[in-house]
Amino acid sequence: MKILLVEDDSALRSALEELLNREGYDVVKTSSIRSAKAEMNSDIDLIMLDVGLPDGDGVSLCRQWRSEGMQIPILFLTAKDEELDVVRGLDAGGNDYVTKPFRMQELLSRIRALLRRNQKETTITRSGITLDKAKLQASREGEALQLTVTEYKILAKLISERSIITRAALLEALWDVDSRFIDDNTLSVHVSRLREKVGGSHIKTIRGVGYQWVD
Ligand code: CA
Repeated sequence: MKILLVEDDSALRSALEELLNREGYDVVKTSSIRSAKAEMNSDIDLIMLDVGLPDGDGVSLCRQWRSEGMQIPILFLTAKDEELDVVRGLDAGGNDYVTKPFRMQELLSRIRALLRRNQKETTITRSGITLDKAKLQASREGEALQLTVTEYKILAKLISERSIITRAALLEALWDVDSRFIDDNTLSVHVSRLREKVGGSHIKTIRGVGYQWVD
């Protein structure tokens, strides 16, 4: 498990790193919004995010990440006088928070709870294909499928719903995420590329209507 730690207090950052390493977590340490963005990637399992950072605030960063579809759990580290920010933080898509100074054992149990919850909620397996909704990745028997974001979104929609998905519903789902216009013809192209990657027999065309996932 890999944790992205964003905290500008260097003493606290080092203490947390030591504690987390001792518990078996890998830690990526950063101390600013800018470096947090640079270090962010899909290998991260949890983000510990300080609210007051030298180049901005953690709440805004959280909101930005969530608006981009990022679903990795975020645990805010807040100072006592930042209680108002806690509300903003949870509204912005944060999952939990601890107030400094916190007890290390409490922190660890919050971390474990978030990681457990996340694992249960964010993966679906169907027809041997596993979707990790937090990381926007698909894999088959542990091997990652190399999908574009659009292909992933189509796959997720088809796998999550057992019924027929109309072309209009698919276009709408893609529109929401990419805010980039995908027309009917482009959709067909994406679906046929996806078929090549996941096996054509799984995606049935319902002529004049849409598509359906077949196990
Ligand atoms: Ca701070």
